[in-house]
Amino acid sequence: MPPINLAIVGIGKIVRDQHLPAVAGNDDYRLVAAASRHGRVEGIENFSSIDAMLSALPSIQAVSLCMPPQYRYEAAVKALTAGKHVFLEKPPGATLSEVEGLAALAAGKGLSLFASWHSRYAPAVEAAREFLAGTRIRSMRVAWKEDVRQWHPGQEWIWQPGGLGVFDPGINALSIVTRILPNPVFVTAAMLEFPENRDAPIAASITFSDAEGLDLAAEFDWRQTGRQSWDIVALTDAGEMLLSEGGARLSIDGRVVHEQPEQEYPMLYRRFVAIIRAGESDVDLAPLRHVADAFMLGRRRQVDAFHD
Ligand code: NAP
Repeated sequence: MPPINLAIVGIGKIVRDQHLPAVAGNDDYRLVAAASRHGRVEGIENFSSIDAMLSALPSIQAVSLCMPPQYRYEAAVKALTAGKHVFLEKPPGATLSEVEGLAALAAGKGLSLFASWHSRYAPAVEAAREFLAGTRIRSMRVAWKEDVRQWHPGQEWIWQPGGLGVFDPGINALSIVTRILPNPVFVTAAMLEFPENRDAPIAASITFSDAEGLDLAAEFDWRQTGRQSWDIVALTDAGEMLLSEGGARLSIDGRVVHEQPEQEYPMLYRRFVAIIRAGESDVDLAPLRHVADAFMLGRRRQVDAFHD
C-alpha cells in the first residue's frame, strides 16, 4: 500500500515530543506539510493556516489536529470538508456535541475520524483490562496528581473555558478507567476547586458508580510537588491491582506482572492507519462525557489564585 500523505496542524509541545518521532518511525505515512501560526517543522512545507495548506496541497490525505481543544472543531470541519481523514489529539474537542457533529460529518463523507486517547495505549492497560475481566472488583481509587508548573508551564489555554484545567491530565486517567472496567460507570458526585483568578479547576474529586454499585473514586490535583502520581488501585477478590506510572506498570499484590517500554504514539498512528484502511472511525466519547458530567453535577469551591 502506498503511504498516506499526512499533514500536522498546531505545532507545539506534543507534536515535537511525540507526533513527529511516531510518524517518522512509521512507513505507512509520508509527512508532507505542517500548518501553525508560529511553529514550523524542518524539511517539509510549512503554512501559517490550515486553509492555506489545504488549498495549496490537494494531495494531503489525512490531517492530525494538535492545537488546544477549543480551536480543534473549526479546523476539523475544514479538513473533513476538504475530504481528509482526521486524527484528533485528546481531548477530542471542547464539547460533546461538536465532536458528535464531526463524527456525523466524517460518516457522511466516508472519511475516518479518530478521537485519540493516548493513555489507553500505555503498555499495561490491556493487561489490567484482562485481569479485571476475570475478577470481582470491590473498589477502585484513581490518583492523578502532578505539578502543573512542571508539566504545563505558561499554557494559558489550559486555564481558559474549554481548556479543562486539571481534567486535561485527568481525562487520561478516565480514558484508562473506561477501557479497563468491564461495565460502564457514571458520576455520582464531584467537588471542583477553582483558583479565584482562573476559569478551570486546579483540583477535582469525583465519585462514580455502576449498575452493580461499584465504589470508584478519583482524585485529580495539579498542586502536587515531589513525587508525582498517576496510579489506579483496585481491590478485587483476586488481589490488589496497582496500575501505575500512567498505565505503564501493572502489579498484583505488590508483584510487577507487566511492564514494557512506552509506545503510546507509535500505537496511535498504527491505529489511525488501520481505521483509514478499514474505512472506519474510532470516536469513543466516554472520557469526555464523564468530565462534562463532573462539571454538571459537581460542587465548586474557590481556592487561592494560581500564578505560573
Ligand atoms: P501547546 O504546545 O500549548 O499548543 C500546541 C500548539 O497549538 C501551539 O504551539 C500553537 O501553535 C497552537 N495554538 C495555540 N493556541 C491556538 C489557537 N488559539 N488557535 C490555533 N492554534 C493554537 O499544547 P500541547 O501541550 O502541544 O497540547 C496540545 C494538545 O495535545 C492538547 O489538547 C493536549 O491535551 C494534548 N496533549 C498534550 C500533551 C503534553 O504532554 N503536552 C500530551 C498528550 C496530549 P501556533 O502558535 O504555531 O499556532
